[in-house]
Amino acid sequence: MSERTTDILIIGAGPAGLAAALYASRSLVKPIVLERMSVGGLVLSTEWIDNYPGFPDGIAAPELMDRMRRQAERFGAEFVSDEVLSLNRTDMGFGVTTAGGTVYQAGSVIVATGAMPRVLPVKEESKYRGRGISYCATCDAAFFKGKPVAVVGGGGSAVEEALVLARGCSKVVVAFPLDSLQAEPILVEQLRALSNVEFVPGAAPAAVEGEGKVERLRLRLSAGGEKTLEVAAVFVAMEFVPTGDLLKGLVEVDAQGYVVTPESTETGVPGLYIAGDVRRKSLKQIVTAVADGAVAAQRAGIYVRSRKGKKNGSPEN
Ligand SMILES: Cc1cc2nc3c(=O)[nH]c(=O)nc-3n(C[C@H](O)[C@H](O)[C@H](O)COP(=O)(O)OP(=O)(O)OC[C@H]3O[C@@H](n4cnc5c(N)ncnc54)[C@H](O)[C@@H]3O)c2cc1C
Repeated sequence: MSERTTDILIIGAGPAGLAAALYASRSLVKPIVLERMSVGGLVLSTEWIDNYPGFPDGIAAPELMDRMRRQAERFGAEFVSDEVLSLNRTDMGFGVTTAGGTVYQAGSVIVATGAMPRVLPVKEESKYRGRGISYCATCDAAFFKGKPVAVVGGGGSAVEEALVLARGCSKVVVAFPLDSLQAEPILVEQLRALSNVEFVPGAAPAAVEGEGKVERLRLRLSAGGEKTLEVAAVFVAMEFVPTGDLLKGLVEVDAQGYVVTPESTETGVPGLYIAGDVRRKSLKQIVTAVADGAVAAQRAGIYVRSRKGKKNGSPEN
């Protein structure tokens, strides 16, 4: 078990954590960023980003995230590959333990752990996961080239997944719970213009069937009855579940598990800030995640400097 001390610790290196790292390091507080998977976060599950300002021709998702990382590193942010297992309050501020066996003592913590896609709510999910049930079109579309597939979900990521799949699959059926798709109109228009895409509104997944791999998706229709799709794969792009387990007992979450904070990203716990998709908000995108990260780092910087000032007998602000 090793120990490290830092002024600002950032948990999660998606867009929110990366922006927090940039702003914290530019305020001359060298932050440590802990990331359990890949630096870049959920953005890495898509290929191309067309709606992040400053890139008139769009930019490859991994390239955008790599640029954000290099920009933060240029000012001194340190990225560590490790999973945070627990977060507690201590005399120093916060104690964080990781799967890699390090205990961090931090003056301030920014939680930017994002949200994860909800699993397909059918009892066969674990049986067919990796055998036709997929959560990433970019990763798995090539396996289903020339075959019919379904997308379950009606939001922005469902539409994006369908657009990726429609390039190579013979048919893409998008099944969604409401009457209309809840995505950017420009993307919905692009999808509706494709001849190999069909839509089933008012539909919820009921069962997945097949001999050892996905062959059919049964849908329950809100209008009554069922519809069966003959498909080789089901791509799941439903709602998201916030990854805020670490915060249990520290801050309150809403019914869906999102942390409710004001725009300042402050919580009721001094020195603890929440940034990105783990926060309750109406638009979950890169542009809102980076905004949160910047605000959180600015608040955290003020907080740690003010604490140090108080200890030295000269409070700042
Ligand atoms: C298919 C798809 C396409 C999308 N396309 C777009 C798009 O075109 N434009 C757009 O603006 N947005 C898009 N989004 C949304 C965008 O990806 C998210 O809004 C954004 O990534 C949120 O950033 P975040 O930093 O809050 O969280 P995330 O990107 O989810 O990052 C959180 C990070 O925290 C890490 N983490 C979690 N728990 C721990 C822990 N205990 N210890 C250490 N690390 C941890 C995770 O591994 C992850 O890397 C898309 C999303 C999907 C799924």
